[in-house]
Amino acid sequence: MLDVMLDLETMGNGPDAAIVAIGAVEFDLEAGEIGEKFYMVVDLESAIQMGGIMDASTVLWWMQQSDEARNVFTRQGETITKSMLMFSRWLRERGDRSDVRVWGNGVAFDNVILAGSYRRHNVTPPWSGRNNRCYRTVMKLHPHVKMQRVGVHHNAVDDAENQARHLISMIGSKTI
Ligand SMILES: [Mg+2]
Repeated sequence: MLDVMLDLETMGNGPDAAIVAIGAVEFDLEAGEIGEKFYMVVDLESAIQMGGIMDASTVLWWMQQSDEARNVFTRQGETITKSMLMFSRWLRERGDRSDVRVWGNGVAFDNVILAGSYRRHNVTPPWSGRNNRCYRTVMKLHPHVKMQRVGVHHNAVDDAENQARHLISMIGSKTI
């Protein structure tokens, strides 16, 4: 499948935000199907060592989220370097770099932050900038189509799956 919904959990909200989890789900808009999923918890220390930024406002925001969502901080994560390598491998299995479309929640969030982290590693992001897609824009154009949320809100892979299903219900050729 050539469409991938990406969701990051971070400790900041700027373009260099420190990443704490990477979630992604492949999907087929036309067929209305969800495929393989990707989830990695990232070691925050390693993300900061590689230039990730923490914002106080995001730390305070996390303190108000559910225990289930904050479980991400109790898990031993992989280094940011290994996590990005694993994501690159997974994304390559979905299709060629020039073909895979990556959807994020907002034009300045998930895709920008992850691509920036690749660049700080001197690695070309594993998808083409031309294939950046914005789920939030589509959502704002379809305010009447509500998301049916399952799983844990602010768990990266659950969020990615919910967003992919919501996108399919908004602009897929059939709903699932
Ligand atoms: Mg999320």
